[in-house]
Amino acid sequence: MKLNIKDTFNTELPADPVLENYRRQVKKACFSFVTPRKPSKPSLIHVSPEMIEAIGLSEEDSKSEEFLSIFSGKEVLDNTKPYAMCYAGHQFGNWAGQLGDGRAINLAEIEHDSKKWTLQLKGAGETPYSRSADGLAVLRSSIREYLCSEAMFHLGVPTTRALSIVLTGDEVLRDVLYNGNPAYEKGAIVCRTSPSFLRFGSFEIFAASQDLGTQKQLIDFTIKHHFQHLETPSKEVYLQFFKEVTTKSLEMVIHWQRIGFVHGVMNTDNMSILGLTIDYGPYGWLEGYDHGWTPNTTDNTHKRYRFEAQPEIVQWNLYQLANAIFPLIEDAKSLESILIHYRMDFKTAYLEMMKSKLGLFSEDENDSKLIEELEQILQLTETDMTIFFRNLSNYLKEEKVVGLSIVSEAFYQPTEITTLIEERWKKWFLQYRVRLQKEALSDHERATKMNRVNPKYVLRNYMAQLAIDAADKGDYSVIGELFDVLKKPYEEQPEYQKWFAKRPEWARHKVGCSMLSCSS
Ligand code: AMP
Ligand code: MG
Repeated sequence: MKLNIKDTFNTELPADPVLENYRRQVKKACFSFVTPRKPSKPSLIHVSPEMIEAIGLSEEDSKSEEFLSIFSGKEVLDNTKPYAMCYAGHQFGNWAGQLGDGRAINLAEIEHDSKKWTLQLKGAGETPYSRSADGLAVLRSSIREYLCSEAMFHLGVPTTRALSIVLTGDEVLRDVLYNGNPAYEKGAIVCRTSPSFLRFGSFEIFAASQDLGTQKQLIDFTIKHHFQHLETPSKEVYLQFFKEVTTKSLEMVIHWQRIGFVHGVMNTDNMSILGLTIDYGPYGWLEGYDHGWTPNTTDNTHKRYRFEAQPEIVQWNLYQLANAIFPLIEDAKSLESILIHYRMDFKTAYLEMMKSKLGLFSEDENDSKLIEELEQILQLTETDMTIFFRNLSNYLKEEKVVGLSIVSEAFYQPTEITTLIEERWKKWFLQYRVRLQKEALSDHERATKMNRVNPKYVLRNYMAQLAIDAADKGDYSVIGELFDVLKKPYEEQPEYQKWFAKRPEWARHKVGCSMLSCSS
């Protein structure tokens, strides 16, 4: 197994001088060296062939004893020095101080095909940032992170990736519902990959400790390695950097809204500086199209991170980043203006995205209204987002009958559609039909384009749970099947049609399906 190791983070940035692994506040350092914990009986569950190839390994490598040793933390790669990153963050709107990689250990950075990847084990034991927790991860949350990272990638959403998932052979104690009923679960480790795991919180920590020197080192490092087209750092370049982070973050959240992904814990320590979806915890997918939905039971009271709030929360998080890097820029007006632009750009991008979901590509001043009305009607009775938009592409421009029948499969409770609601639907479809007459594309061409933005297959909450339930019993076939179907989310794949279905009733209130906590 040969990896092209090119470490930069732990060679160019200041390290915590303390080498022992006890919990502490770390100052003037971007990371602490730490060695992964040795698992008692590691075994491989699944690897991502695409990611194996991306880092320059072969299928054979992935089956080797060495691969299992490295990606379970049993052994450390030659000439590498694993480390945990130091960062802070705002959690649920409040300053939380130092957080850091409490259970993530970066093994090394590698380069392949001119692309950089950091390889990181999640769940490989304690670090100086573990605070009161154990540094471990359970099988259930690891499967969710593993499957979703790769599914999001194939959906075309900017995301960190996943290379492998292994069982450690150790047991981990968790209180899933935080109700005083802890139980042992199987421990697991996902190897995550990303060009960088830097977060907004990585920059907030040095603003909080007023350590401008390290702050400048970190931002210059980030520009040098990850925003290479920007020039030699200066105040102007820092502003450009911030502008780019806002653009990338906006692109990411527009994708989330397009596919119905709800992150669940959009704290600033979970916001990637590269605009990648990161830290798959109590995330979920909209089943019923409901703007107020969040999968995270920990956030049930205020629903701060509900579906409709995500774009605004990104902006709130960007404000925190702006505050953090302000001392290096000292130009509040320019930062403010970038943030105001975010809001305007969001409106434009959201409209374009929603139009594409409806197959509308020309201009019409009434499009916003048409979309708003649709979003309201969709929420009158529980309507499956994925099925609705996917089936909408079957609509025919010349259709004289009401389009309701082509989307009927999306309704969870058809009997709840009262005459009044039905009238609204009919009216909306009439307007949609009139609007479609303005489009130059044929029905077939429009459907093809719509099917590229409206996925047929997403990782529905209950699907992940089925994979977990089977894996708990030692059967990894569901993980394999979901992994495969989610590789081509926009294709019909008739052999997997059973996954194009509404959430079954048993999953409506089941823990792990509609209710998820941060316990992982
Ligand atoms: P999260 O909300 O999962 O992004 O985690 C917030 C913070 O808690 C991060 O600093 C994590 O590294 C840390 N953390 C979460 N779970 C654990 C754990 N089991 N052991 C140690 N640290 C953890
Ligand atoms: Mg996190």
